[in-house]
Amino acid sequence: MSLDELSKEQLIEKLKLLELENNSLKEQVGKTYGIDNHDNNPQLQQYQHQQQSFNSLLSSEEYRRYGRQMQVPEIGISTQRKLKQSKIGIVDGDTVDVTNLHRQVLHNTETVGMLKCESAKRNLLKLNPNVEIQTYPDLISNDNAFKIISQYDYVLDCTDNPATRYLINDVSVLCGKTIISGSGVKTDGQLCVLNFHNIGPCYRCFYPSPPPANSITSCADGGVVGSCIGLVGIMMATETLKVISGFYSGDNFKPYLGLYSGFGPNQSLRTFKMRGKSNKCKVCCAETRQITKEVIEKGDLDYHTWCGSVDYNVLKPDERIDVQNLKKIIDTEKETKTGFLLLDVRPKEQFEISSIPNTRNIPYAKLKKCKTLEDVLPDYDDVPVYVICRFGRDSQLSVRFLKDQLGLKNVWDVKGGVNKWASDVDGEFFVYW
Ligand SMILES: [Zn+2]
Repeated sequence: MSLDELSKEQLIEKLKLLELENNSLKEQVGKTYGIDNHDNNPQLQQYQHQQQSFNSLLSSEEYRRYGRQMQVPEIGISTQRKLKQSKIGIVDGDTVDVTNLHRQVLHNTETVGMLKCESAKRNLLKLNPNVEIQTYPDLISNDNAFKIISQYDYVLDCTDNPATRYLINDVSVLCGKTIISGSGVKTDGQLCVLNFHNIGPCYRCFYPSPPPANSITSCADGGVVGSCIGLVGIMMATETLKVISGFYSGDNFKPYLGLYSGFGPNQSLRTFKMRGKSNKCKVCCAETRQITKEVIEKGDLDYHTWCGSVDYNVLKPDERIDVQNLKKIIDTEKETKTGFLLLDVRPKEQFEISSIPNTRNIPYAKLKKCKTLEDVLPDYDDVPVYVICRFGRDSQLSVRFLKDQLGLKNVWDVKGGVNKWASDVDGEFFVYW
C-alpha cells in the first residue's frame, strides 16, 4: 500500500512509528559518536540532514498543537508543514527597555536589559519550543543586510524609520524576497505587502524619495497605543500566512495599502488599491535600476544621509543655556523675584504627564502658527524667556522662530530638554519615554 492510499488515522499511526524510529536512531547515533562532535563528522552531518527531513513531518504533539488551524481549508496540513520546515531570523541590536513593554509583547518585565532578539527568542520558545530561531544582535546595515536577508524567503519589516525601511526594501528586492510591512503611530497603523514574488510593486515604486526629514524626527513623536500597533503586528502575521500558503497568487494578488484606525468612531481598516510596479523604479525595474548590491555594500548609498536629518543646530552657543543654569535661575528667582518665563513647547499630552513647576505650555505645533508675539504671549512683560522641550530639538526651532519671526529678544533654549533635566537635575521628574 502506498502512502497516498493510507487514511488519515493510518498516516498518523505511521508517523508515530517513524518518530519512535527517529528517536531510537538518535539515541544510537549519540551513543556511537558522542553528542559533542556533531559538526565535523560526515556521517553525523548526513544524520542531521535526515533529521531535518524528518522534522518537516509533524509530531503527534504538533498535530494537537496546530489542529485547530490545520482544519481550516485556507491553511491545511500542507501549509502547516511549510511552517514546520521554516526558520525564523530576528534582527535587532537594541536592548529591552521598560518603555517598550506596553506594545512590544514579545518582551516582558523579566527581560528588561536583555538584547531584544534574545528576549524575543526566549519568549517565543516558551510559547512553542518546536520553532527554530536564529538571532542577529545587530542593527541591520549596508554591511550585513544581504548576508542576513538572502537566507530567508520572506521579510517582515517592523522598523520605524525611513532609512531602514528603504534599506530593507532595496536589499529584499535585489534578493527576490517578498516583504510584509507594517508601521503605526498614535492610534493608526499601516500595512502592505511589497515586491510580492518580484511581480508586485516595492516601497520605492510608491515612494521614490523619502518624506521631509523634519516631518519625522520631531520631539512630538513617540506616542503609540499598544493595542493599536499590536493589531498591525497580528495583521502582518496573517498576510505572511497568506503569502506562505499560496493563498495569494500572481492572479489574485492586488497591491494595496491598508490603513487601520483604532480610535475612529468604529475601528476601521480601509484598503487603498495601489498602482503596480513603477517602470522608473531605481531598484525593482531592471531597465532603470541604479541601486545594486555593489552600490549598497560599498556604502555608496548612505540611507541615513539620503533620508536626511533635521539641522537642529540653528542657534549660536550664547543663545542656549544648560539645565544646571536653568536650575540656578529657578533657585535665584525664589530670592530676587525679578521674573522670568519658562516656556515648554512639548505637546499638551506630554506636558500633562510631567512638567517643571511654574512652566507655561505652548506646543511647538501651535507656536509656529502664531503671527505675532501677542498671539503667543498676550501678557508678556519683557522678562527673559527660556524654552524647553523633550530632547532639545523643537525648543531650538522655537527660539529661532520667536526671535526671527516674532521679534522676541530675551529668549534662550534649554539644551537637552526635560530629558536632560530629569537625568542631571531632578531624578524625581517622571520620565515617560
Ligand atoms: Zn520598485
